[in-house]
Amino acid sequence: MSPVPAEALPTSSPRRGRAVIDLAALRANVRALRARVGGAQLMAVVKSDAYGHGAIPCARAAREAGATWLGTATPEEALALRAAGDTGRMLCWLWTPGGPWREAIEADIDVSVSGMWALDEVVAAARAAGRPARVQLKADTGLGRNGCQPDDWPELTAAARAAELAGTIAVTGVWSHFACADEPGHPSIAAQLTAYREALATAERAGLRPEVRHIANSPAALTLPETHFDLVRTGIAVYGVSPAPEIGQPSDFGLRPVMTLRANLALVKRAPGGHGVSYGHHYVTPGETTLALVPLGYADGVPRHASGTGPVLVGGKWRTVAGRVAMDQFVVDLGGDSAAVGDEAVLFGPGDGGEPTAEDWARAAGTIAYEIVTRIGKRVSRVYVDEDHGVHGTDDRGAAARPVDDGEERRG
Ligand SMILES: *Cc1c(COP(=O)(O)O)cnc(C)c1O
Repeated sequence: MSPVPAEALPTSSPRRGRAVIDLAALRANVRALRARVGGAQLMAVVKSDAYGHGAIPCARAAREAGATWLGTATPEEALALRAAGDTGRMLCWLWTPGGPWREAIEADIDVSVSGMWALDEVVAAARAAGRPARVQLKADTGLGRNGCQPDDWPELTAAARAAELAGTIAVTGVWSHFACADEPGHPSIAAQLTAYREALATAERAGLRPEVRHIANSPAALTLPETHFDLVRTGIAVYGVSPAPEIGQPSDFGLRPVMTLRANLALVKRAPGGHGVSYGHHYVTPGETTLALVPLGYADGVPRHASGTGPVLVGGKWRTVAGRVAMDQFVVDLGGDSAAVGDEAVLFGPGDGGEPTAEDWARAAGTIAYEIVTRIGKRVSRVYVDEDHGVHGTDDRGAAARPVDDGEERRG
């Protein structure tokens, strides 16, 4: 038996499950954010495969809409964008010993440094590469995660300035990150801003003249104009999702969710009353009913914590996950309604077609919408559509959508 070449094998079927990614909505979100932040530049954060939306097409769309920076967590994510042809400014901030510093330097990626260990490694890599590294120094102004503590900041900024004078690095940015920007009025916001200004002053005294100063994430970009400085780093808002329901709905900020998660029913069947449904029998049919099988499960990012609570639009009505979400599938009880195998189930989307939103799933699962979109798995096809909402304004978004080939060259 001769083996079938891998490229000849079918990949995951879009009919089983597909995340429809609306690139026109993404571009409109970037434009709305740019208008909101006035003179500041916009960094589209495309870490973790653009929050599950697909890094390369989303990065390209964000650039088209005027994002002058891209941000990633890992260097590998940034290098993949370079390999895909992106030539603009890019920052990656989550480094571990060993790099790949040199590859990033040679790819003209700005690298973030939070401590002396990283500065030492980047200086060595820049020497080996024979060209200066673009370095952004990160201060911990109160988040207590990555970033340099205030006590160590004078040493780090002085060493960075010395490396700059020696020609091995150029300090292009001084930056930080908020802990509670999604909780308006939280006292840590003002405290972090004060600490950030002090960190900037210390850097200045050391002789550094960073090109970009930045601290704002999506919630700060949306609600705290005093935090915008030269650049805002927006992630979740680019994908049209509100950072927190407490600060507003996406539409309050002119944003529209980019991802719609759809599936086609794999089975529809009548079942008698008293029938246990899915593992553990945590749901039992209250009477004779119709059960529909949705072929997506927790391995696809449907949270198991939404067992018995997650909302799904089937046949024009919200249904609730009946019993446990399994690895690959879950069941909804259609009650007295009927449906046909192959009918569409919409787990979440923008919400204006009657479907739930990622925020609804977040509430059902006791988490945040960031986690809902980011965890959609590899078996779920990403289908790119690019319709102009302003011109068509149709309700039937699926029918009007024009699929865009992932690898297709698009301009303007
Ligand atoms: C993820 C991330 C962001 C983007 O956060 P959002 O709330 O999604 O806008 C910005 N900066 C850093 C350092 C991050 O890790």
